Amino acid sequence: MKKLEFIPVSQPDVTGNERNYLNECIETGWVSSVGSFVTRFEEQFAKVCACPYGISVNSGTAALHLALRVLDIGPDDEVIVPALTFAATANSVLYQGATPIVADCSTHDWNMDPAGLEDLITPKTRAIIPVHLYGTPCDMDAIGSIAARHGIPIVEDCAEAHGAQYKGQPVGSFGTMACFSFYGNKVITSGEGGICVTGDPELNQRMRLLRDHGMNKQRRYWHDEVGYNYRMTNLQAAVGCAQLERMDEFIAHKRWVKGQYQQGLQGLNCLLPEDPPETKSVFWLYTMALPEHCTEQARDELIRFLAERRIDSRPVFYVLTDMPPYQHLQGHADNARPLSARGITLPSFNGLNEHHIARICGAIREWFKKTE
Ligand SMILES: *Cc1c(COP(=O)(O)O)cnc(C)c1O
Repeated sequence: MKKLEFIPVSQPDVTGNERNYLNECIETGWVSSVGSFVTRFEEQFAKVCACPYGISVNSGTAALHLALRVLDIGPDDEVIVPALTFAATANSVLYQGATPIVADCSTHDWNMDPAGLEDLITPKTRAIIPVHLYGTPCDMDAIGSIAARHGIPIVEDCAEAHGAQYKGQPVGSFGTMACFSFYGNKVITSGEGGICVTGDPELNQRMRLLRDHGMNKQRRYWHDEVGYNYRMTNLQAAVGCAQLERMDEFIAHKRWVKGQYQQGLQGLNCLLPEDPPETKSVFWLYTMALPEHCTEQARDELIRFLAERRIDSRPVFYVLTDMPPYQHLQGHADNARPLSARGITLPSFNGLNEHHIARICGAIREWFKKTE
């Protein structure tokens, strides 16, 4: 019998100009962190976010850390982060010696819930980091007005939401700063990489200084501050530029995938992602929750059941405060916990076709029948 094709959750599509641009780097010798692709990538990506400045770095985590560093966030400061996110959001706060405060999520968009947000604000709150989880924009009107009322800067974590829009405006343009990741499984990739975008010329200058060891731009080997090596290479930027040319195509495919799953999973009583008209989600990784009676064990069983059929899937992020490094943190996760326990991420890579999706939905239906 022919072995079934393995269906991964995610897989980068680097079949465009990546090879040409990388060859150009090698032929010209510009392989490190100076080169035309770095500037081009920064300018083009900032434009996508309707922001004047883009500061490329070597990871999404570096972007978040740099953003908090230039806001001078430190010990004694609090930063509000959502309960459901990839851990890097909270880690960047801890790197600065500050305290993450955990905001619960809404069951509609799985994002930071504006309803409980104001109660978490104290005189120590120095920033709010909304995360556009799985590519779906947060309620930026509500979060933005709370932040504005208290004069607290917003740093958007857009690591999963390249190209997403809230009321026609691109994510990345709502906060004082916004951070993106270009890790291999993100909407577009540069291998590893990240970027900060901002409209503030002073923050832009300081981030450029700090990503390059804090070294003065006019006086070589003179250090104005203790900085980092957070630079992106021209090789990474070359891949990023090629990916950017295809970003709209990638997003259109992800939105198509979401429609296909919605049809294929109809009637199973799962909590499928919403797609309200005021937002344009990019559905980075298609993620849904199993019916309410399902436990975390049942969810993990489904993951194994799919794996036996050569279909890759993932659990949703664990609630931050359920994990040892974050257990001591204050906050709420009553909505987040059941979503995390019952949540599952299904394949969404660019080559995923209707036959794959039929196989995936068929296997899920088979599992539902078996467990009935
Ligand atoms: C991927 C991700 C990051 C970290 O990006 P890296 O490039 O892997 O450092 C941060 N926040 C969120 C929400 C992410 O999904």
